[in-house]
Amino acid sequence: MTTSRLLIDLDALRANWRALDAMSAPAVETGAVVKANGYGLGAAPVSRALAEAGARTFFVAAAEEGLAVRQALGDGPAIHVFSGHMEGDTALLAQAGLTPMLNSIEQFRRHREALPEAPFGIQLDSGMNRLGLEPADWAALRDEALALDPVLVMSHLACADEPEHPMNRQQLNCFREMVAGVEAPCSLAATGGIINGPDYHFQVTRAGCGMYGGLPYADAKPVVHLDLPVIQTRQIEPGESVGYGNAWVADRPSTIATVAAGYADGLHRLMAPGTMLYAGDTACPLVGRISMDLITVDVTALTEVPDYLALLNDVQGVDRLAANEGTIGYEILTSLGGRYARSFTGAAA
Ligand SMILES: *Cc1c(COP(=O)(O)O)cnc(C)c1O
Repeated sequence: MTTSRLLIDLDALRANWRALDAMSAPAVETGAVVKANGYGLGAAPVSRALAEAGARTFFVAAAEEGLAVRQALGDGPAIHVFSGHMEGDTALLAQAGLTPMLNSIEQFRRHREALPEAPFGIQLDSGMNRLGLEPADWAALRDEALALDPVLVMSHLACADEPEHPMNRQQLNCFREMVAGVEAPCSLAATGGIINGPDYHFQVTRAGCGMYGGLPYADAKPVVHLDLPVIQTRQIEPGESVGYGNAWVADRPSTIATVAAGYADGLHRLMAPGTMLYAGDTACPLVGRISMDLITVDVTALTEVPDYLALLNDVQGVDRLAANEGTIGYEILTSLGGRYARSFTGAAA
């Protein structure tokens, strides 16, 4: 069957990483977050492209993801694991040369016992209350941990996508207090923190969504293009309905294109109605309910129906598409379907 074409522009990805890198001082290292299979785009090609652009430190959520990135990159680049050293991770961390960001005293003890020679970082909770050592636990562990030279001491901002939010300053102050006198490199900023300025940069930043073309990096180059194949086109009369539940009824003679992608491909049912597909510059509304493998599109405005309709293009990026269903670009990216044929422009020869 003709499948949907997901085109991933690695030149744009690299350009976005470079632009985020250029927002901090040259001495600041810009890391690359490639968790969740490189935000759904493919951890291996994405990591290789970013290494080519100059990224030397990569971040993943789980050790298993780290192994895939290590296999793609070979020895050399640092790969840091946000979830730290969990029960059962030891062999994988050691085998793949991954650095756990230790989140608790318990994880610290586990790591010291299981891999006493292996590097580690520390993740601190500066107020988000999600991951990391709370200030009191850090005070208790600090001297012992710092004596062992952690490779990174990091924390994460809860509201960085809202630059004026007082939580940013509050977390910055909390983090500054917790890392006062620490000689290890420190890291607080993801994409939002990078944009919010040098106070947040410390020695290492962790670029994520912005590299992939998403907010809060409003000037990002689009990285993802998605074309969906038209399987069939039909004419319907006023009063005829389309799809499950007769959810849409034509009020004029209409041309309906049936397109091969559905909620099993990440087109959540919440996207209908209100989402547009594009034939060149012409927007065509998605009508009726989204099925598992199919959607239906009102293409009455077109004189000729093309073989493919675009769901993600330069006009409708991941954030615009996300807004139609009340979510964020991150969720669009990480929901991109496994059935899409991914191809990469700008890949290394
Ligand atoms: C996901 C994540 C990032 C990257 O965030 P973006 O907003 O995508 O740039 C950085 N740090 C941590 C701890 C994360 O979980």
